[in-house]
Amino acid sequence: MITIENGKVLYGEGMDAIKANVVIEDDKIIEITGGKVKGGKKIDAKGCIVAPAFINSHVHIGDSIACDVGDGKTIAEIVKPPNGLKHRILEESKPEEIINSMKRSMNDMLASGTSTFVDFREGGLEGICLLEEASEDIQIRKIVLGRDNSFFDPDVGKGEIKSITKNLLKSCDGIGLSGFGEIRDEVVALIAKICEKHGKISAIHTAEYEKLQEDSIKATGKSEVQRAVESDLNALIHVTAPVGDDLKLIGDSGSSVVSCPRSNGTLSVGIPPISDMLKHKINVLLGTDNIMFNSPNMLREMEYALKVTRGYYREYFSPAEIFKMATVNAANAFDLNTGCIKEESTADIIIVKEFSGNSILSLINRTEPKDIVGLITEGNIVYIN
Ligand SMILES: [Zn+2]
Repeated sequence: MITIENGKVLYGEGMDAIKANVVIEDDKIIEITGGKVKGGKKIDAKGCIVAPAFINSHVHIGDSIACDVGDGKTIAEIVKPPNGLKHRILEESKPEEIINSMKRSMNDMLASGTSTFVDFREGGLEGICLLEEASEDIQIRKIVLGRDNSFFDPDVGKGEIKSITKNLLKSCDGIGLSGFGEIRDEVVALIAKICEKHGKISAIHTAEYEKLQEDSIKATGKSEVQRAVESDLNALIHVTAPVGDDLKLIGDSGSSVVSCPRSNGTLSVGIPPISDMLKHKINVLLGTDNIMFNSPNMLREMEYALKVTRGYYREYFSPAEIFKMATVNAANAFDLNTGCIKEESTADIIIVKEFSGNSILSLINRTEPKDIVGLITEGNIVYIN
């Protein structure tokens, strides 16, 4: 048993700051109490915030090998499969170099308070094995969304797609597709259906920038969002450039959107309309996207997301909404019993120095990785500084 004592706890899905002690048994939070707790290990969190650890809902961890390469080039030149700059670098790199760079990124995530990440894993089964090997000794939860190159081959039949997908899903948590420009709609719909049937996650990059939407409408008469919603995918990545009724469609469909504002900024494609997404009752999550151009640091992502949203709308936007995007919204989307501190939740917790009376703003505005005193995942102490 572990008790985190004397801290200010961000409690429940509402993230209400309360003075309390958090009691952990095995992997679960079993009690949150104002009273003294006897026995077990004690962690003194005086002067600290006790908060849910972060869930980074979208990364491409394999690209850790190519940090800051290609700046100023177009998005297609950098990341479009199969001949983007990153694909060429990955091809030229040795597996151990890729593994070491992935390890570095996972340790960066732990150091900045992330307990869980959702990875778009390329390279089929081999790519999944590479991440398995890299994460062997690292106490981080990974949700692996695989893909196979055959998905993008116009000549591959439905039967083959079906068997490849089913086989891939034995080794991962779902499928992450690069985008509508590279894959037939019937293949997307088929993959989403197989994922659904097997209780797995389906996701795709959608409406990342305006030209993709224009091309989609020209080619099919539908926006990328319309196509994604029709295919019934669980998570749409980006939706930075919605058109027409796109946001209403997503809101009605129940799919989640993973917003990656720093990535959109880096690639000069816009600012995601987060406030409008929430108005349409969309479950919005936050991801740091490609490690080529972003550190996988959710503290940085939250701060950018909050401020760019206020700047974009020229009005107040609640920091608690941003904090939920980095925690409980993601847990709800991926069916994880975590993302908030309450009884019976999985104990994924950070203990962080408090710098102001406003706990959530203290986290978003002022906290650096060095200020994270401790990280607990699944009831295990990953570190206490
Ligand atoms: Zn991405």
